[in-house]
Amino acid sequence: MGGGVSGALLNRTLTELGHDLTVFDKSSFQMRSGFGFLLLPNGIAGLKELGVWKDVEPYCLRIRKVNFINTSGDLSNQIDFEEVYSISRFKFLEALANKSTELIEDLVKLSENGDFIVGENHHIHSKSFDGILGSDGVHSKTRKHLNPQAENQDTATYEVMGVVKSDFLYNMLGNELHKYAIAENGLSLGILPLKDGEIIWYLQVNSIDHGTPKRDRESLIAFLKETVGDCENPMIQALLNSNIETTYVWQGRTLKNVHTLAKDNIFLFGDAAHLFLPFTSQGTNSAIVDVALFIQLLKSGKSLPEFAHQYSVERLAETNELVKAGIEMMQEFCFTNFDEVASKIPITLLK
Ligand SMILES: Cc1cc2nc3c(=O)[nH]c(=O)nc-3n(C[C@H](O)[C@H](O)[C@H](O)COP(=O)(O)OP(=O)(O)OC[C@H]3O[C@@H](n4cnc5c(N)ncnc54)[C@H](O)[C@@H]3O)c2cc1C
Repeated sequence: MGGGVSGALLNRTLTELGHDLTVFDKSSFQMRSGFGFLLLPNGIAGLKELGVWKDVEPYCLRIRKVNFINTSGDLSNQIDFEEVYSISRFKFLEALANKSTELIEDLVKLSENGDFIVGENHHIHSKSFDGILGSDGVHSKTRKHLNPQAENQDTATYEVMGVVKSDFLYNMLGNELHKYAIAENGLSLGILPLKDGEIIWYLQVNSIDHGTPKRDRESLIAFLKETVGDCENPMIQALLNSNIETTYVWQGRTLKNVHTLAKDNIFLFGDAAHLFLPFTSQGTNSAIVDVALFIQLLKSGKSLPEFAHQYSVERLAETNELVKAGIEMMQEFCFTNFDEVASKIPITLLK
């Protein structure tokens, strides 16, 4: 259920291993809508283990360095990346679509007693499947089925982001990520090149000090101009003068009361299983690690209860630590000397 990052990976690897899949996604359009992400060492190791890195790598741009620029416009820190790549979400999913089972468009969930998979156009007995894989994202219904008390809570930070094309910016960035501290407290702009001339920009915002704009494109662009318009940096001015078509808001969220990621033959993956604060860049990377562990355990021949237990315990232990670290980063971002903190973000928790 769900054909986003973890669903697409499950689809590709299980199909390749000869399993017979039925894959639902509520919207093949939404699934492909176009932002992107940083692939970090843990995600890359997972893709390699799953044997799909060779298909994904051609769409990646290797990011060699991050430059941090402080509020006075000076370079405050520079960190070399060893193995970090940027990729657009669309390209990532496209790279995996080859050798995958075709998606069926439907919004599905498990019936209350779990006996049926119910969609707008489907009603299928759960027993027809050996396993039910919940990769249905941030508002997962499968998560709620396994953890009825689960709650999804907004945090005080969010990112406004989008994709632009600008030859000037692209040439200036080369293969570096730029990170600008915009205000003393909780406002920071990142500019990240993707392969083939596209650039992701993301404004990290502390909503306590800087508020929350409406989510329509005009309001978001007005907010960007209002918050960063005074910066004289030519990169920022070039961004503001480019044709900003796509805008998204990635609201920071945490999860409460999720105690299990697998029960009987039902498993959770990616955002259905855990939510990280954007600072960690772990959403996609940990979703990949989930799938890698699941496939490893599936191949190990362990009994289903043993396999499910190990999956749940191992993934919860690892991801809880990352969630915690992300929350600490958020607190520093919002409440402490930001110039100092900005020089760490988004150097994620895993080198
Ligand atoms: C605007 C935005 C920007 C982001 N930027 C980054 C970033 O820079 N770096 C990073 O690491 N992470 C980023 N993330 C997080 C990252 O996208 C997620 O962590 C990652 O996609 C998780 O993968 P997933 O498979 O769990 O969920 P998704 O990729 O979201 O996939 C879930 C899929 O399930 C489908 N679905 C949902 N409910 C149902 C249902 N009931 N029935 C059928 N289908 C359903 C959806 O259509 C979707 O295709 C961002 C998220 C957002 C929203």
